[in-house]
Amino acid sequence: MTSTSSAQPQGQAAQARNWLHTARFLTTAAQLNQLPPLAVPEIAFVGRSNAGKSTCINTLTQQRQLAYASKTPGRTQHINLFELGKQGAVDAVLTDLPGYGYAAVPREAKIRWQQVMANYLMRRENLRAVVMLCDSRHGLTELDEGLLEIIRPRVQDGLDFLVLLTKADKLNRAEGQKALSIAKLQTAGGGVRLFSALKKTGVDEVSLQLMQWAQSGLPQPLPEAEQPEEDEPPALDE
Ligand code: GDP
Repeated sequence: MTSTSSAQPQGQAAQARNWLHTARFLTTAAQLNQLPPLAVPEIAFVGRSNAGKSTCINTLTQQRQLAYASKTPGRTQHINLFELGKQGAVDAVLTDLPGYGYAAVPREAKIRWQQVMANYLMRRENLRAVVMLCDSRHGLTELDEGLLEIIRPRVQDGLDFLVLLTKADKLNRAEGQKALSIAKLQTAGGGVRLFSALKKTGVDEVSLQLMQWAQSGLPQPLPEAEQPEEDEPPALDE
């Protein structure tokens, strides 16, 4: 275990963890045009409500409360941005998008929110990657697959995405492998990984992945022609 080949990745993982620990609240917005244009890569976290998104963000950033800002009254339907990097030298942004599929949200609010979310995913210029959280016991639901449909055109243009199967500590090894294989089929090529905040499964690998995305620079500019604002909102409720 002391070979140089294993020492290097551990060093990088520690670097990634330290970098993620710099996360701090930047801003919150109720719609896309309230977000500041940013010239650093942005990585969005999406998932059904209760999928474990806040816990995942807090675990990756090693901060107990960071993403719970998104759960405070008045901010549950907001896009919350967290900046990363040294003070005065922000090099990436994490975005926490509100959870979807929550039955108690009034229908009108759901429809409005679907539009905001779809707009964000289709139009946010500096969006570099999307991390989708799914409860490993349920796998990808129709709502999650609907969200992947929204980003598919951008994935074809180079947007990266990673599906995290959360709460993996609740599955045994065989169940975990089965959940992974099914999710891989559903995502048709995107990355899929088991994740547990409780047991820290996947934390180093995801931290490294986020840092690599941040270091790889800004995405290609969006094509001018597409103006999806008027499109029918995707069905992200039940
Ligand atoms: P969000 O609505 O997607 O932000 O979900 P939360 O982060 O609030 O998590 C929803 C529930 O799942 C909470 O009760 C968490 O304690 C629980 N949870 C989140 N991550 C894990 C995990 O890795 N393992 C276990 N066993 N429970 C988790």
